[in-house]
This record gives sequence, structure tokens and C-alpha cells, in this order.
Amino acid sequence: AKQHGRNDYQWYTDDLTQRVHERLILRGDLQQAIELGQFELYYQPQVAVHNGQMCGFEALLRWNHPERGMISPSIFIPMAEATGQIIALSEWVFKRACRDAVMLCTKLTEGAAVAINVSPLHFQRSSFVAFIQRMLDDSGLDPQCLELEVTEGLLLNNIEDAIDTLQELKDKGIKIAIDDFGTGFSSLNYLKRLPIDKVKIDKAFIDDVNEDGRDAAIVQSIISLAHNLQLTVIAEGVETDEQLAFLAKHDCDEIQGYLFARPMPFGDLIRWISQWRQRPEG
Ligand code: C2E
Ligand code: CA
Ligand code: CA
Ligand code: CA
Repeated sequence: AKQHGRNDYQWYTDDLTQRVHERLILRGDLQQAIELGQFELYYQPQVAVHNGQMCGFEALLRWNHPERGMISPSIFIPMAEATGQIIALSEWVFKRACRDAVMLCTKLTEGAAVAINVSPLHFQRSSFVAFIQRMLDDSGLDPQCLELEVTEGLLLNNIEDAIDTLQELKDKGIKIAIDDFGTGFSSLNYLKRLPIDKVKIDKAFIDDVNEDGRDAAIVQSIISLAHNLQLTVIAEGVETDEQLAFLAKHDCDEIQGYLFARPMPFGDLIRWISQWRQRPEG
């Protein structure tokens, strides 16, 4: 059942453990886990290709379960989305990330933003914009230091409402990025209508970009499409120098991936930032 795998998780792959997790969450374990402080936000740096400077930090949720170790968000987030418990969790994420962002983007790295993954269920609530405003007010965070990573899943119910909500957020100065770009079905159709700032190319296209000519063609096309629409492009899941070289050659703006840093706890990030600044080429 337990497998030590990539990403330092213990992956729980078989059906039984899957069902156990499901029941834990259904029992309200997740709410309790919030109260017991079992959740933690990790951050992964985003780096500008042309000068190597840090331009952002993506907040990635971790559940440090006392008996089960680290549970991957790709397991518990879809479940929490299905049960509605994602709302409480997402509220916790925003509260914590906005607080951390004040330190990261005001005191340490001016001009950078903390990127938060947005739950479709949370986004579709009529109170979402007011909630975000409250997070900004409570933390004192500059809206320019906040970036929301949204996926196509957010647009499925009512695209007109979704566009209105995104516009309201953008009007406040918050940045909007389209996450997992290229993995959905209607990407091109909605791209021109959405008030966004950034396109995030999914890791799936980056993995074999140096080996598979089709992936290379797709990545190149996404970059030029985004640039023609005046959007910034970031690639995720960059692990090798060869991938970086390809992306730099084709004018990708920003990079995120293990090549630079894995997602890490806040304290480690603070140390990483000062080391990154002192690197020879920096
Ligand atoms: P995502 O938004 O596509 O996040 C990127 C995932 O790729 C993260 O997985 C990250 O750790 C991983 N990653 C980044 N660089 C590399 C790399 O170079 N190599 C490899 N192999 N992986 C890399 P993670 O942290 O397990 O998160 C999984 C998904 O869970 C995220 O996918 C996102 O959809 C969701 N998620 C994570 N945190 C939150 C959160 O706070 N709220 C919501 N609503 N969803 C979240
Ligand atoms: Ca981002
Ligand atoms: Ca993301
Ligand atoms: Ca992705």
C-alpha cells in the first residue's frame, strides 16, 4: 500500500487506502485536521527566464497526517471538492497564504506574487469576491502580490458569471493565471474572452518537450499564441537544463520546476531565497 515515490510523498494508490481516506474526510476528519494544524502550505518559486529573478511563489497544500504521513493534494483535494469541505480548506489556504505573501512579496521579493490555486466550488460562491477582499483587508496585502490560478473547471457551469467574477478580481489589481493550460478541451474558445494575465503550460507538455516533436510544436504554439494576446507565459514541471534551454529559446517568460526548487515549507523558502540571491550568476 505505501510507496515512497516521487515528490517525497508516500503515495496511497490502492483502492482500500483510497476508501479509507474518503471515509476519513466524510467523517469530518478534514475539519478536525484544520483545527489540529495538520495542514501546511509549501511554496515553489517561479523564476524569470531572462534574468533569473524570482517573480512568484506558488502555494501548494500539504496534509501532514499523524499516522499516514504526507498525503498528496491530488488525493484529498478532489475528495474535498466532492464533499464541499474544500470551502473550509480553501479559506484556510487563503488566510495563510495572504499572511505569508505580505512577508514574501513586500519585505523579501518586491514585485513578486504568491499564486494560489482556486477551487471551482469556492470560486462559484456568490461571496467569493467579498471573501478575497476580506483576505486583502485583514492581511494588508497589496492586491498586485496576489495571483489566482484558475482552471477550466471553473468555467463549466456558467461562463458569463465566471468572466464577471474574474473581471471584478482583476479590477482590484489581482493577477489571474490559467492553470493546466492545454489539458482541457475548449482552451482556445475561452482564451480570448477571459480577463487573464498569464497562461501556465501544463507539465504534461514539458515532460518530453526535447524528445517529442509534437510536444515541442504545442509548447511553441502556446507561447506565441499567449504573446500575441499580450499574456505572460509560465511553464511548470521544468526538471532539466535541456527543457530550460528549449523554453528560453522559444521565449517563455517564466519557469517553475524541480530544476530550480521543489515546493518547500515557508521557513526553507526564506533560506532558499537568500541563497538564490547569492548565486554566482545572480
Ligand atoms: P497543479 O496546480 O498543477 O500544481 C503543480 C504540481 O506539480 C504540484 O503538485 C507540484 O508540486 C508539482 N511540480 C512542480 N514542479 C514539478 C517538477 O518539476 N516535477 C514534478 N514531477 N512535479 C512538479 P502537488 O503539490 O502535488 O499538487 C497537486 C495538485 O493539487 C495541484 O496541481 C493543484 O491542482 C492541487 N492543489 C495543490 N494545492 C492546492 C490548494 O491550496 N488549493 C487547491 N484548490 N488545489 C491545490
Ligand atoms: Ca502562477
Ligand atoms: Ca497550479
Ligand atoms: Ca498542472
